[in-house]
Amino acid sequence: MLELDKRSIMYLPGVGPKKAEILQREAEIASFEDLLYYFPYKYIDRSRFYTVAEITDNMPHIQLKGRILSYDTLGEGRTRRLVARFSDGTGVIELVWFKGIAFVKEKYHVGKEYIVFGKPVEFGHTFNIPHPDIDPIEQAAQVANGLTPFYNTSERMKKAFLNSRAIQNLQFTLLNMIEWDVIETLSPDVLDQIKMTSLSEAMRNIHFPESMEKLKAARLRLKFDELFFIQLHILQTATFRKQKLKGLVCTTVGERFNTFYKDYLPFDLTDAQKRVMREIRVDMGSGRQMNRLLQGDVGSGKTLVALLSMLLALDNNYQACMMAPTEILANQHYVTVMNFLGDMDIKIALLTGSTKKKDRNKILPAIASGEIDIVIGTHALIEETVVFSTLGLAIIDEQHRFGVEQRARLWQKNEQVPHVLVMTATPIPRTLAMTLYGDLDVSVIDQLPPGRKPILTLHRYDNRKAELYDFLRKEIRLGRQVYVVYPLIEESEKLDYKALEEGFKVFTEVFSEYKVCMVHGRMKPAEKDVEMQKFISGEANILLATTVIEVGVNVPNASVMVIESAERFGLSQLHQLRGRVGRGSEQSYCVLVSSFKLSNDTRKRLEIMVQTSNGFEIAEADLRLRGHGDLEGTRQSGVGIDLKIADLGSDGQILQYARDLANDILSSDNDLSSPEHQILAARLKTLFAHKIGWGLIS
Ligand code: ADP
Ligand code: MG
Repeated sequence: MLELDKRSIMYLPGVGPKKAEILQREAEIASFEDLLYYFPYKYIDRSRFYTVAEITDNMPHIQLKGRILSYDTLGEGRTRRLVARFSDGTGVIELVWFKGIAFVKEKYHVGKEYIVFGKPVEFGHTFNIPHPDIDPIEQAAQVANGLTPFYNTSERMKKAFLNSRAIQNLQFTLLNMIEWDVIETLSPDVLDQIKMTSLSEAMRNIHFPESMEKLKAARLRLKFDELFFIQLHILQTATFRKQKLKGLVCTTVGERFNTFYKDYLPFDLTDAQKRVMREIRVDMGSGRQMNRLLQGDVGSGKTLVALLSMLLALDNNYQACMMAPTEILANQHYVTVMNFLGDMDIKIALLTGSTKKKDRNKILPAIASGEIDIVIGTHALIEETVVFSTLGLAIIDEQHRFGVEQRARLWQKNEQVPHVLVMTATPIPRTLAMTLYGDLDVSVIDQLPPGRKPILTLHRYDNRKAELYDFLRKEIRLGRQVYVVYPLIEESEKLDYKALEEGFKVFTEVFSEYKVCMVHGRMKPAEKDVEMQKFISGEANILLATTVIEVGVNVPNASVMVIESAERFGLSQLHQLRGRVGRGSEQSYCVLVSSFKLSNDTRKRLEIMVQTSNGFEIAEADLRLRGHGDLEGTRQSGVGIDLKIADLGSDGQILQYARDLANDILSSDNDLSSPEHQILAARLKTLFAHKIGWGLIS
């Protein structure tokens, strides 16, 4: 049988080298198999005909039956277009073409009856349909037979005559060529268990649905396939790592840990912190390499857990390091750790991009000789010049900001892989965690230190600024500090900076008796630090900022977080920002300021923020509302989950089911070596051949 994944798309009749190149570049379709797995993104019911009189704005693609009354060629140059007046007796609509004018006029005749299919757009007081599909009425039975698939196509694809219809034609050619028979990817035992439709049937119905029911069954089967193989891959990698990768053994809980715990720790650990510490201690002492993701909402006390883990490494004669995504954050960790450790005899170094050369020249040899116990820093830590004597534990904070490769470079610093603890304050929904980090063990700090008052969140429209200012003034008089955050979106960066700068003007005027400072990403790090320091020290009452303050900053006296244009932020981002307040014992507030005109989704997002402060609930809602493709971090995560059909927001159950089944299979046949499972092993190899080794470094 034809090996679909090895056959270049170029050789499919109707493609050829030029189209093949475009398919590859624009849609990542390189092989026959890629085409088959290029699924429609939607289906339109073509069994229904509309009338011209029924057309309103915001309609999806519709289908009309009628006659062309006349043609006109209008405009010049780039606006030159062919306009056909088209009527079905209930009204007249214009069909418009900007390309292929001669061809259209030649092919479709005035007075003859046609089926027209396209999306009406409002133009002045009438509607027109640009570049409609047109078929003679005699072909109604063929074209208007129910569910028509729509494939994503780019402008370049369309220019090369690779529109959605053309893709469907290619699918037809391919499926016909292989006699509508696609090699099964699942083994008989799995097929037996899941009781889903066969792969052939699923492929046929995903591209040429016979009915809504069959389409649903096809989608279910293909979603299952997608998630099942990802889970098999992840779980197998995890097993492999657990078996093969020896870990540095840290069983001693020694002097440093105990001294700190008894004499320096200013408060009791929360139960959640204690539980997580036990998990980490077991890992680090097990003889296997720890690969643990530590999730905890902002303010849940991850830094302390990190510090205790580092002391554990130190007690076993290893060094430890901690890497943060920004200088501000690295600095803050450094100060925090120094404060915690007080006069304990532990050597700590800070290493960032702005560490002076003179200092670097002292620090680097001291790291290499083992004289320095703990290094805290930014990306500077992964530069080649940084050599450890014996790195036992690498902690990575806010890991979304680091790519997989960067992290890998950190733990390749040793001959023996160090233990790795990845900390994130962005709560990752379970479904996503299972897919992204399915091979990491997960610890969760699901409890805040005692004495915190929940933050009160309010939503206010931006036409009521005076009230807001009154409220802020009241808080400042009580001695508190205020954050005001402006969005910064790359595409409109200029406008965003303008908004921030205008805001600064307004605030310095309205609050002329107080001190206002400002930080943003365009400042030099040193400048940023100076401004930031004004706020940290309490000298400034109000800090205006773009999202640079999102991670890490800890100013317990700040009790109000104002978020301007809150509608432009994602939920998780709003949650992170809100976490900057509520760190002291005072009542804190988060004020979401938005314009009055909001879409339904946006209104829902802001409502969720007002209603809950649970990071996990928010992350789940974010996933539901935006889909996983948008979820902060998934794209940069580097794990590259490029799901073609499953949706982590809505397919959590299928994912769980797929994972359980994958687990079952591996527990009896961990390398898929039984004859029955050859088919699964082969499929895994096709799917993940280019990703070998990922598991080791994620
Ligand atoms: P995270 O990094 O998880 O956002 P931090 O580690 O910055 O949170 O902790 C937030 C604040 O809570 C810090 O000021 C820290 O000293 C304090 N803290 C941490 N653990 C406890 C605890 N068990 N009891 C009281 N305060 C704590
Ligand atoms: Mg933190």
